[in-house]
Amino acid sequence: MPLPPPPPPRAVIRDVTAGSAAHHAGVKPGDRLVSVNECEIPDVLAYRRELMLGEVTVTTERSDGSLLTFEVAWEDPGLEFEDVIFDGIRTCANKCDFCYVHQMPKGFRKSLYMMDDDFRTSFLYGSFVTLTNLTDADVNRILDEHLSPLYVSVHTANEDLRSDMMKWWRLKVKDPAATRIRDMIERLEPIDLYTQMVLLPGRNDGDEMEETLAYLAERPNVQAVAVVPVGLTDHRTNLPDLRTYTAEESREVIRRVEAVQRRMLSERGTRFVFLSDEFYINAGLALPPTEAYEGFAMLENGVGMTRDFLDGGMPTLPPRIEQPRRVLIATGTLFGPILERALAPLASVEDLQLEVRALENRTFGHVTSVAGLLAGRDVLLGVKPGEADVLMLSPNVVKYGTELMLDDRSLDDLRRELGMDVVLGGTTLHELTETILFGAEATSTPQFGFSTHAIKEASQQH
Ligand code: SF4
Repeated sequence: MPLPPPPPPRAVIRDVTAGSAAHHAGVKPGDRLVSVNECEIPDVLAYRRELMLGEVTVTTERSDGSLLTFEVAWEDPGLEFEDVIFDGIRTCANKCDFCYVHQMPKGFRKSLYMMDDDFRTSFLYGSFVTLTNLTDADVNRILDEHLSPLYVSVHTANEDLRSDMMKWWRLKVKDPAATRIRDMIERLEPIDLYTQMVLLPGRNDGDEMEETLAYLAERPNVQAVAVVPVGLTDHRTNLPDLRTYTAEESREVIRRVEAVQRRMLSERGTRFVFLSDEFYINAGLALPPTEAYEGFAMLENGVGMTRDFLDGGMPTLPPRIEQPRRVLIATGTLFGPILERALAPLASVEDLQLEVRALENRTFGHVTSVAGLLAGRDVLLGVKPGEADVLMLSPNVVKYGTELMLDDRSLDDLRRELGMDVVLGGTTLHELTETILFGAEATSTPQFGFSTHAIKEASQQH
């Protein structure tokens, strides 16, 4: 029996601007958007597109099912929505060997297991998509509405190898043509693409990687490539056997990528391909200078995060602080040694007792080394109650705009259980140093934190 059609999209209205047309019409928060110009509206992009027509008729629905209709001409109706996607996030059609969602331990909130592969969130938020779930109509929509730039997980331009790495579900792929990455990149030629390759040792690195980079460099719409190593957790039961990069292999990846960068820089004035920090740290090599990141376009993918953090250096240090303080900074094992070296000059500040502690990630397993994937329980297991006056964490450990960690423990929970103040330490060395010396007022929150997309970005894959 065929499945029933999905229910029509109904965006929940979060807020109504005072004095707006919607307000005058009597629309209330909690009502739902039914249509604009009698068209169903699947997402905020389509909503904005309809408003561009100038004179529009908006229909909303109350919780009792009654409908309200009002008209606007060349003005914003005054509606704010709970979500940007109204008809449900498009999930992926793949079963990648290296999928981070498949390696997540059980028990986290449902949204963290969402296998988002939606071209609309790629355009709106810069999340990486594989394109394998697109229909012909989606491709036409991207082109018609010029949804540019998009962020695309290429991994390899060798179609057979890509299929082997990503193992798409035939039943979920709506258009087999969408699985051919070269065709898709070429069809989307008017759209700027920022791409990424998640490297698996011995699979898509070496000559394969160089061939993919050579292909991508030929495509006029491909703006840049981020190359990131596969991220693994301890939760890989019944998943393909994968391993992380050794220091020697990391050096080989760097050697090959830097050769491409030099060539591209002299031929085209851009390095074009950028390596995530993890390769340099694993290899034990110095990070590239600031200018090598050309504006940090792929920062959220772990490309240049460390250099960006260190840039600007420290403020002038006072000889002493006003009140003696014991400050403990907890971070991941990848960044711990770098942070310790960077903060070493603070040892000269009288009355400041400072320790940087690299916490083992017991939630995802010791192979998970990035600070952004530390859960509240990792902090509780690695820090003793009362051992410091203040505990500082990376702003990346909380969900953007909240104080909630991956396992839904809040900073308040940590404060209560550890009997000390717990604050977010800052996004730059300068800011962190000021927070250590003068308190949390100096801290700003980052433009990103973990989310259904960013958890994959934090783990640098998708
Ligand atoms: S890595 Fe991304 S595209 Fe691949 S299976 Fe996981 S969620 Fe889907």
